[in-house]
Amino acid sequence: MDQKQRPQVEVPTTPRVLIFPLPAQGHVTSMLTLAELLSLCGIDVTFLNTDHVHNRLFRHADIEARFADYPGLLFRTISDGLPDDHPRSNDRSITEVLHSMIATTKPVLNEMLVSGALGSVTCIIADGAFAGFVTNSACELHVPIIYYQPASACCLWTLLCFDDIIKAGELPIRGKEDMDRIITSVPGMKSFLRCRDLPSFCQVNDTSATKINPVARAIRQSCSAQGIILNTFEELEGPIISHIIRSFCPNTYTIGPLHAHLKHKLAKKNVSKSDQSSNSIFEVDRKCMDWLDSQPPKSVIYVSFGSITTLTRDALLEFWHGLVNSNVRFLWVVRPDMLTGECAGEVPSELLEATRERGYMVRWAPQEEVLSHRAVGGFLTHSGWNSTLESIVAGVPMICWPYFADQQINSRFVGEVWKLGIDMKDVCDRKIVEKMVIDLTVERREEFLKSTAKMARLAGESVCEGGLSDSNFDRLVEYIRLTAKEKSAR
Ligand code: UDP
Repeated sequence: MDQKQRPQVEVPTTPRVLIFPLPAQGHVTSMLTLAELLSLCGIDVTFLNTDHVHNRLFRHADIEARFADYPGLLFRTISDGLPDDHPRSNDRSITEVLHSMIATTKPVLNEMLVSGALGSVTCIIADGAFAGFVTNSACELHVPIIYYQPASACCLWTLLCFDDIIKAGELPIRGKEDMDRIITSVPGMKSFLRCRDLPSFCQVNDTSATKINPVARAIRQSCSAQGIILNTFEELEGPIISHIIRSFCPNTYTIGPLHAHLKHKLAKKNVSKSDQSSNSIFEVDRKCMDWLDSQPPKSVIYVSFGSITTLTRDALLEFWHGLVNSNVRFLWVVRPDMLTGECAGEVPSELLEATRERGYMVRWAPQEEVLSHRAVGGFLTHSGWNSTLESIVAGVPMICWPYFADQQINSRFVGEVWKLGIDMKDVCDRKIVEKMVIDLTVERREEFLKSTAKMARLAGESVCEGGLSDSNFDRLVEYIRLTAKEKSAR
């Protein structure tokens, strides 16, 4: 039979997704979880990290063992263009990382994609904070881009309404005394959104130049892509998600909380993974788990401000006094790179003494495990989106002390809308810290136990069979398969 007479055999194209997170702990954590979820469903993934993040991830997390069962999952690296000794840690450094990556990483990434160095990619899942990074090569390769949104839906929706807020004359903010003014031009938030609750990117005092932060601008742009993925669930942010779908992005996949989703799918497939597996780019100190084991149920408040927040020595001392004076036991994460400014001087001995009696400090904790430990009864948090979801899934009430980005609006929703805790934003005073800790763990304990248990149940149901996050994930997988087939048919 000559070549021409042979029946045409359709060459199956295995879908391969490129996933590329912004090089920060919160983004890497959740996008790696998404990579594992997709791998479990038989989708090949190329996970691209900057060299810096890749090295730290492989040093501190058990990546090799964890992903050994997924031969289709490739780890690849790219330079962020910065010298080895650049700190790359706090919020200021991250802006520098971004600028460097736009100048040096972007062209290299496009080359790698087009040359096939990242595998035969059929779909790109890019970080919403990086919109525009891969647009040209996606067009050249004829592959769709779906943007993973690292922030809450309520933050995303506010960013999308930013121009309307300005048009309505509700921005700029005119000084400190203006911070409690209600913003009425964001549908779904008209009665409770104050200037101080706007994502920090939107808290502008000059709209003439519309000095919107590049990350916020990228996140807005990304909503015009073929699809967006949200790490949230309908029962938590349903009305806000509907606004986003109706007004900006009809192809929205709400599939969170991702970490709970993965846990459920692994259990369903009987894949036994260590409870201690982590996505950390910091060295995890597990000794605090032994300390927690020796504490009474729900007696400990866990304190962590995430991977980027910095504190002055004064602020650190206000928190410390407040915690000690509350007489509540505490487990506190103080990263070595967390303190700024003048850190010299002795820590008062009564603080050290009380910490030895009923407190424990670590540089980095296994947070998911800590939050689900029976001894933990509250979380003093910076309201990062991953931390918020982890607390919700574990059913732990929160005291919120937001620092920047989406944290300001997340904490408003925690306190005012979801009633899962107390918002302490813009205050750092030992008396208030003490009062809030007592309110959360003693005075209003029953109220929060009820509301957090209910939301934890809803989060769990959403990722189980028949739940909305579960069916949205099936839809996403179907879309990825379909676009791979279309590519092979071209
Ligand atoms: N985290 C951790 N150990 C710690 C502190 C934080 O594992 O001691 C993890 C936490 O579980 C979360 C991530 O770091 O998954 C922080 O992400 P988030 O979005 O809450 O805040 P960000 O660090 O981006 O400000």
